[in-house]
Amino acid sequence: MNNWKIEILRCPTEEDWKRCLLLARATQGKFDAPKEPSVEWKRKILRAEHSPIRTLMFTIQMENIPYCNSVHFVRHKYGVEHYVQSQRRNADRGAERQDAPVTHIMDINAQELIFMARKRMCMKADRVTRDIMYAIKKEILEIDFDVWNSLLVPQCHMDENFCPEFKPCGVYHNL
Ligand SMILES: [Zn+2]
Repeated sequence: MNNWKIEILRCPTEEDWKRCLLLARATQGKFDAPKEPSVEWKRKILRAEHSPIRTLMFTIQMENIPYCNSVHFVRHKYGVEHYVQSQRRNADRGAERQDAPVTHIMDINAQELIFMARKRMCMKADRVTRDIMYAIKKEILEIDFDVWNSLLVPQCHMDENFCPEFKPCGVYHNL
């Protein structure tokens, strides 16, 4: 049983998706009035990982996660900003334990979310960090299942079940 809680404070909006479509069409020399794209198109661009998905922003709150797991998320730096509760209140900072709970908010784009899932859902990731990443996925699917279903997967599910870690996790067959 864990004491942490994941909350999606912001998901890409209809306006964000219109902008994403507009940007994608602009790269093809098309500058027509933006409309909201279909679920099918949304899935296509997320799978293709074309650059307009970097404009689709999520705000994810991870309440009371262990400090040592917060540090794993902080290592992600492209397409994500981190807002982590300061531990400055404690006069004796050295006394803070590795598992001291912190509240950590990530402002993250769809590209980095996909990348983060690949790394943090792998069996090579820390178990608690993995649990948190799966919880993030669960919350996102509750909000927008049709678009995100099967798009947040560990790296070993991709590339013909090839796990690209130096020492593959071994859970999936490696070619
Ligand atoms: Zn793996």
